[in-house]
Amino acid sequence: MDLGIRGKRALVTAASKGLGRGCAEALAAAGVDLVINARGTEALEATAAAIRAAHGVTVTTVAGDITDVGARAAVLAAAGAVDILVTNAGGPPPGMWSDWSREDFLRALDANMLTPIALMQWALPGMIAKRWGRVVNITSQSVKAPIPQLGLSNAARAGLTGFVAGTARQVAPEGVTINNLLPGIHATDRAVSLDAGVSKAKGISMEAAAAERMATIPARRYGTAAEFGATCAFLCSQHAGFIVGQNILLDGGAMNATL
Ligand code: NAP
Repeated sequence: MDLGIRGKRALVTAASKGLGRGCAEALAAAGVDLVINARGTEALEATAAAIRAAHGVTVTTVAGDITDVGARAAVLAAAGAVDILVTNAGGPPPGMWSDWSREDFLRALDANMLTPIALMQWALPGMIAKRWGRVVNITSQSVKAPIPQLGLSNAARAGLTGFVAGTARQVAPEGVTINNLLPGIHATDRAVSLDAGVSKAKGISMEAAAAERMATIPARRYGTAAEFGATCAFLCSQHAGFIVGQNILLDGGAMNATL
């Protein structure tokens, strides 16, 4: 399917690996020029080179912590006006509700709520002026079905979801859509680190921990970054202009709910 976005320009943050990279690759496959970001330079440059070679699009890299105000300003200066924004950052660490301090909450809110909000506040005026834009925020299945040990994530992402619910309706008349993609377990470094947590807590092997977690998913496997990216690219396409303010779950059926 031609997504109708060839020649558009996208900023994808936290995109050297995992789900962010999956989104960047799928947009590049649709002919979108990219600005991508991550903290580590090596993986970022390797990803950019691979995408350029595979898809022939322009890929600009800006290394830096997207949750840091100064680093974010450098990313946005390099990005200039964009048609498409995909927001992403690392997720908070697991833990116990009784242990988290105010500082832990502030860090999580900064990374998974206030940073995507700041990115949208930066990108939306230009999209509104052009009367076309697409924003996709990578959040988590924890928005719909809480993951108790990820309470920092549950809290911060719920806040972002509330902001998007209202704002998406405010910008929709201008031809701009905002939606959230909610990953269930996907085969990325993040999944490996969560497998390691289960392995340690239960004293079982990594393989046993992954098998235990896969058994909770009706699809009986983890999702892939490519599947996730394809959904993101569709939401950014010309075909998705009537999808507004939605929270789309990609979890292999893991959340047991009728609606
Ligand atoms: P991942 O494989 O660990 O990749 C994270 C990417 O983001 C890397 O490119 C990393 O590069 C970059 N990054 C992390 N923190 C950053 C920061 N502060 N500034 C700039 N770049 C940053 O993670 P993932 O699995 O793709 O997860 C992406 C998001 O989805 C996370 O918020 C995660 O919590 C959420 N999620 C994932 C799953 C899953 O099963 N994978 C499920 C639910 C929710 P550098 O380290 O070099 O910066």
